[in-house]
Amino acid sequence: MSILSLPVATLGTPRIGPRRELKFALESYWSGKSSEAQLLDAAAGLRIANWARQKSLGVTVIPSNDFSLYDHVLDTSVMVGAIPEIYGWTAGPPSLKTYFAMARGAQDDDQHANCSQTHHGHGAPAQNMTKWFDTNYHYMVPEFHSDQSFKLSSRKPIEEYQEAKCLGYQTRPVLIGPVTFLKLGKSADPAFDPLLLLDRLLPVYVEVLRELARRGAEWVQLDEPTLVLDLDEGSRAALHRAYVHLAQAVPDLKIMLVTYFGTIGDNLQTALALPVAGLHVDLVRAPDQLSAIAAGARGDLVVSLGVIDGRNVWRSNIPALVDRLTPALAKLGMHRVQIAPSCSLLHVPIDVKLETDLDSDVKSWLAFSVQKIEELSTLGRALGSDRAAVADALAASEAAAIARETSPIIHSAAVARRMVAIDESMRRRLTPSAKRADVQRARFDLPIFPTTTIGSFPQTVHVRNARAAHAKGKLNDEQYEEFLKEETARAVCWQEEIGLDVLVHGEFERNDMVQYFGEHLSGFRFTKYGWVQSYGSRYVRPPILFGDVSRPRPITVEWWRYSQSLTKKPVKAMLTGPVTILNWSFVRDDISRKEVCQQIALAIRDEVLDLEKAGAAMIQIDEAALREGLPLRKSQWKTYLDWAVDSFRICSSGVADETQIHTHMCYSEFNDIIDAIAAMDADVISIETSRSKMALLDAFKAYKYPNGIGPGIYDIHSPRIPEPEEMKNLIMLARQRLSDAQLWINPDCGLKTRQWEEVRPALANMVAAARHLRAILTPQT
Ligand code: GLN
Ligand code: ZN
Repeated sequence: MSILSLPVATLGTPRIGPRRELKFALESYWSGKSSEAQLLDAAAGLRIANWARQKSLGVTVIPSNDFSLYDHVLDTSVMVGAIPEIYGWTAGPPSLKTYFAMARGAQDDDQHANCSQTHHGHGAPAQNMTKWFDTNYHYMVPEFHSDQSFKLSSRKPIEEYQEAKCLGYQTRPVLIGPVTFLKLGKSADPAFDPLLLLDRLLPVYVEVLRELARRGAEWVQLDEPTLVLDLDEGSRAALHRAYVHLAQAVPDLKIMLVTYFGTIGDNLQTALALPVAGLHVDLVRAPDQLSAIAAGARGDLVVSLGVIDGRNVWRSNIPALVDRLTPALAKLGMHRVQIAPSCSLLHVPIDVKLETDLDSDVKSWLAFSVQKIEELSTLGRALGSDRAAVADALAASEAAAIARETSPIIHSAAVARRMVAIDESMRRRLTPSAKRADVQRARFDLPIFPTTTIGSFPQTVHVRNARAAHAKGKLNDEQYEEFLKEETARAVCWQEEIGLDVLVHGEFERNDMVQYFGEHLSGFRFTKYGWVQSYGSRYVRPPILFGDVSRPRPITVEWWRYSQSLTKKPVKAMLTGPVTILNWSFVRDDISRKEVCQQIALAIRDEVLDLEKAGAAMIQIDEAALREGLPLRKSQWKTYLDWAVDSFRICSSGVADETQIHTHMCYSEFNDIIDAIAAMDADVISIETSRSKMALLDAFKAYKYPNGIGPGIYDIHSPRIPEPEEMKNLIMLARQRLSDAQLWINPDCGLKTRQWEEVRPALANMVAAARHLRAILTPQT
C-alpha cells in the first residue's frame, strides 16, 4: 500500500506567541494588572492557536505539554514535586505563586523581574538557571537532595493532553525523560549523584504515562537529549533501567524517545537496546548517523528523522533532501518513518511572513517555525506518493536554494581576498606578553590594583526612551547624538570624580553588544518579530548573519575619541569579539563557522587598528560567549577552541606593544579551558568571580597565568551594594592566588542592567577598597 504522505511531527513549537503575547500576559500578571485567570486564559489561547496552526499546516503528530508558562524543566520539577522547602509548598497542586517563586524568587516587587539571581532581602531566591545544552535557552536547574522524594504534584501534561483532546486534537504529549531530568539537576552536596534518585522518580512517570494512556494517548514523546553527550556506564545503565521499567509498567503506550543537538555516537548501542517504540534522531547536526541507525534498529522501531534544522533559520532545499533520504527510506520501509525538525522548534522564531521590512532576497532564504512546518509537510508528501501535488513547492524550494548559493549579496570578492591573505604574522603580537607588560607599565603609570569597569553603565528608562524616540523619528540624528554625548560626558566626568583609574564611555549608544556591531557590519540583517525565548519572559532577536562580513567604516572610533577628549585618564575602547558575535547570531550554514568567525575577526581587526590610530591605548574585546560555544562532546572541544582563539588573535594582534588589549568573559569556569584563555594572549582579562569567592582563580594560579587579571569583586547580578570591607576581603582572597602586579579591580560584568543608585555607591566603595589596600600593603611581586 502506498503512503500518500509520511507522518509529520514537530516535537514542540514556540510558546511565546507571534507577537510575544505570553511575555505581555506574564508581565501584566506579575505587576498585578491582570488576574491569574486572565493569565491562564491567555496561555490557553496560545496553546489553541498552536494546535490549530500545526493542524492546518499538515502536522500529523501534534505535541501537547510543549507549552510552558516559564520553562519546561521547571514544569517537570513541579510535576514530580521536586520543590525545595524554602518555597513553602507541602502538598497538593503547587500554586502559580510557588511556581513563579521558583522561577523568579519570592519577591514582593517586580523590579527585578528578569533577573535570575538571588534577591537578597526579597524572600526565597529563584532557582539557579543555566543553559539548555548548547542553546541560548536557559532552564531552571532542578534541586535534589539525598532523601528527596517525588510525588505527582502537577497534572499539567495530563490536563493539556485532555484540553487538546476536547478540541479534537489527538496529541503526542511531550515530557523530559527521567534520566535527562535527573542529570540536569543539582544537589547542594556535589558528591551526590541525582541518578541515585531514579527508582524513586520512575513511579511518578509511570503514573503520568498510565493516566495519559487511560485518557486515550497512543504515543508519548520522552526527550532524552542526554543521549548525545559523553555518558558514563552509570548513565547508560540508568537509561536502560528507566525504559525497561516504563515499557513494562505502561505497555499500552508507545514511547518516542527523542534525541537532539548531536550524534548519539557511542551511545547508539544503548539507545537501540531500549524497549521503546520509536527513536528520533538529529540528522541536521549529525546526518551520518542515519546509516548506522538504519542498519542497527529493531525491525519494528519507528524512526523519526530530524531533517529540518530546528536550530537555525535557513530554508531547506527540499528536493535535495528527498534525494538524500530516499535510499534510507527504502531500507527502513515507509511504514516506520516519521519526519520532523532536528529538535523542538522552540529555538527558532515563529513566522517570517511578519517581517515586512526585510529585503525580499534575504527573506526568501529564511524559514521560521511556520515555514519549517510547511517544509516538513511538503517533504512528507514528496517522499510519499503525493509528489505531483507539491511540485510547485518543490520547485520554489530548489530555486530559493540556488538563488541563495549564487547571490551577489552573500559573496564579496574583497572578503575572499582578505581571507586567503591571513598569515601567521596577523595572529601574533610583536613581542611576548611579559615584555609588553613592561612597555605598558611605563606608558600608563597606573597604581597597583588599578580600578576599572567592564564597559556599560545603566541603560536607564531615559536612555531607552531616547533610543525608541530616535527609532520612531521623534528625535532626529543630531538630537539623539547630542543626548548620547551628554550621557557619555556625565559618565566620564563622574568616573573621574570618584577616582577610577581606567575609564569607559558607558555604551549608551548600544542597544545590545552584538546587535550594535551587527548593525554596523555588512553581512547581517535584523528582524522585527524574530524573537526566541532566552529564559522565562525574556526573549531575544538574534541577528541573522547571512553573508560575507566586513566593516564598511569605523564603528566606535568617534565615541572613543569624544570620551577621551573629556579626560586625561585612559579611556578603554570597547568592542565585541568575533566568537561572541558568532555565537549570539543565527549564522549562515553554507560555509563553516570557523570561516565566518575569521571574517568577523578581520572586521573587528580593522576597528582595533583604527582605534589605535586614533590614539586608543587600551582596547577591550569582549568574548562573553566564548565558553558557551563549546561543543557538547569533549572530543570536539579542541577544534572549536583552536579556531575561536585563532579568531581572537586575528582581531587583536595587529597592535603595537604599548597598546593594551583587554578581554572580558562573563563566567568563572576556566579550569578546563585555561590553555585556550592563555593562548588568547590578551594583556588583561576581566572575569566573573565575586560570588564564587575567588575560588575560581585557582585555575589561573595552577596555570601560572602570566598576564593581567581583573577578578570581579562586585556582583552586578544583584541590586545589593557591597561594602568596601567585603570587596577588600575578596581582593585579599585574590592575592592568595595572583601577584599584586597582575591584579586589576573591577566588577563582574557590565552595569547596564543596574540602576545608578546602586552603581554610584558600589563603584565608590570599590575605589575605596582598592585605595585602602594600596595604602596598607607593601606590594609583593
Ligand atoms: N562591555 C560589555 C558591557 O559592559 C560586556 C557585557 C558582557 O560581557 N556581557 O556591558
Ligand atoms: Zn560580562
